[in-house]
Formats: sequence, structure tokens, C-alpha cells
Amino acid sequence: MASLKALSAAAPLTLRIVAECTVTKARACDLLLPHGTVSTPVFMPVGTQGTLKGITVDQLEGLACQICLGNTYHLGMRPGSDLIEKANGLHGFMNWKKNLLTDSGGFQMVSLVELSEVTEEGVKFKSPYDGKEILLSPEKSISIQNSLGSDIMMQLDDVVSSTMTGPRVEEAMHRSIRWLDRCIAANKNPDKQNLFAIIQGGLNADLRKTCLDEMTQRDVPGFAIGGLSGGEEKDDFWRMVTLSTDHLPREKPRYLMGVGYVCIICVMLHCHLTSKTNFKNYILVKHKQYAKDFQPIDPDCQCPTCKRHSRAYLHALFKSDTAAMHHITIHNIAYQLTLMRSVKQSIVEGRFPEFIQMFMRRMFPSRDQYPSWAVDALASVNITLE
Ligand SMILES: [Zn+2]
Repeated sequence: MASLKALSAAAPLTLRIVAECTVTKARACDLLLPHGTVSTPVFMPVGTQGTLKGITVDQLEGLACQICLGNTYHLGMRPGSDLIEKANGLHGFMNWKKNLLTDSGGFQMVSLVELSEVTEEGVKFKSPYDGKEILLSPEKSISIQNSLGSDIMMQLDDVVSSTMTGPRVEEAMHRSIRWLDRCIAANKNPDKQNLFAIIQGGLNADLRKTCLDEMTQRDVPGFAIGGLSGGEEKDDFWRMVTLSTDHLPREKPRYLMGVGYVCIICVMLHCHLTSKTNFKNYILVKHKQYAKDFQPIDPDCQCPTCKRHSRAYLHALFKSDTAAMHHITIHNIAYQLTLMRSVKQSIVEGRFPEFIQMFMRRMFPSRDQYPSWAVDALASVNITLE
């Protein structure tokens, strides 16, 4: 275990290394942000967005969540950043006292709005509310995020599908570097809000390396690994993650974007923050076989849903009430938060490799069910599965 080492960045952020795994690349850290300390590795749930996800700020607080995500696209469209600024930013508007990370808005735009067009200026799209043409430039994205007052802001990047190949991937990578510089210049609150760069380059190791070389020359307080987790082979995915973490500065936090259940694998490849907006697991209770099952979703889970409700109850609720989705969301978030806390504990206690082995045994009842990408990813950081 490493001794307590404090590293500071030239920003309202400090990363303090609590422990380092001697076998893998995993580290347990405390990330000091303007709205309190975030214990990492951490999973960041989505706190606000336009689509129905059904969890209140109160409930997030109850799950001891230290940082959550706000969607710039949804908030910027409605109710609009001016109104939120008047409410003392998103913290005041939501009445959330812990940390907030906001995305740039670009990803939602490209994935949700059919008629979006990317030029050097920014992302042009038609508002789904009133059909007006809107330009989301790097400056505009930062201006909205400055109004929202988030603790971590994401740069606007040029997003292409993770399965895309060819010259468009290279163009998007270079444009993302140029847009990063425009975002840095546009940030009105560098003393209060941390701007994170997003590493792009698709599944091409050379492009990713170029992006890493360029972006790490910029004085930004943290980095995200972007452009992954969009349907590419898991084998490509983890290799790009590990390539990225090998080249990122040790003293700065890393955020792996858009990753859900595989996040535990990525911890050992050295990522601090992860998030995922849509979960598919545990919708299982919809299935008929659970209609008479009086167990909780997970007998080992301490979340309000599992402490109170059976699978049979949730199954019945599904038929008539959106509250079922709400209960399941609470369980999903509690599960991820608890899992990451256990991961951190195991790193601190010097038994992270054993923890991973145990976790895999629990997830996959027999050895031949281990996905080969997970076996290879683990082997790359010296963990052999038995
Ligand atoms: Zn639960």
C-alpha cells in the first residue's frame, strides 16, 4: 500500500492517493472538489435529465452519493441556463449540496437529434421543441455549463460512433483538440469549475496516442476517455482504455464515460470515475417466473428497495405503475455505489486481485462462462482467473 500522497493540480481540484494496488493499475483516491470529497473509484448516477429515470435528489442523498451528473443538453433546452443561473446554478435549482458533473451537450445532440450537423464552428441542430436552428459551439457549451455552475465540466468534443473507421475518426480527433482549446479559453470560472478534456481517436491506437500527446500538454484538471462503449467489441474497448490510462498523467483524475457493469474491470486499468445512463439489468422482475417470488431483487443488498419489497411485489407493480421502474432505479444505483465502495475498500486493504476473482466467480457460475475479453483484460494486469 502506498503512503498517503497529496498531489495538487492548478485548479479547484485535488487528487489524493490513498492506496495503490501492487498487482494491477488500480488506485483508491480521494478527489477533493468544491462540494466535498469524492471517494474513488466511484460510479456517478444521473441526477437530472429530461427523460424519465425516476429518482429524487433526496433519494440520491440517502444513498450517500457524492457526485452526480446533470445533462447540459436537457437542462440547456428546458428550463434553460438563464433560469438555472438565477436559481444559483444547478446546485441551487436542484437543491443538491454535493458535487455535480455536467456533460457538454454534444453527445445527446448527436445521438438524440436526427438532423444535427457538425462543422468547425460547432454542432448545428434543430430544436426538438420549437424547430429553431441552434448552434452548440465549444463557447456556447462552456457558457451553459458556467451558468449551471457544475464542479466538473466536460469539453465539447466531436463525437463519432465507436465503430466508425476511416478519415472521419481522425478529423473528429483533431477537431476535438481544437475545440478543447476553445473551451479552455471560454471558461469564465477556472478557479471554481474544473474543465475535463475528452480523449478521442476511436479504436485506432495511433490516433488515440496522438490525441493523448496533444491533450496532456494542456493544463486541464482532469481527463475523460471518450468515444468508447458504443457497440464496439469489448476486446477493442479495454485495449483502448488501458492505452489511454498508460499515457494520462498520474496526478490527475480519469473519467471513463458511458460504462456500466464493466466498470469494475476498468478500475484495475486505472479509472476513477464512471457513469452510465441506461441500465438493462434487473428489469428481470418483469418476467413471469418472479410473480410468486418473495425474495428481494438482491438478498445481500441494503438499498431501500431490497429492504422493503419483494420481486413478486415489483412484478405486480410493473403492470400498473411507473413506481416499479423507480424502485428498480434506486436498486441499480445503490448496487453500483456499493460495489465501488467495496472495490475501494479492497484496494485499501491490499486484496483487490482477490476481490476481482471473487466477483467474477459470483457473476459467472462456471469458468467457461467467463467472457474471453475479461480474461484477457485481467491477464494484462496480472490477474489470472481460476
Ligand atoms: Zn437493492
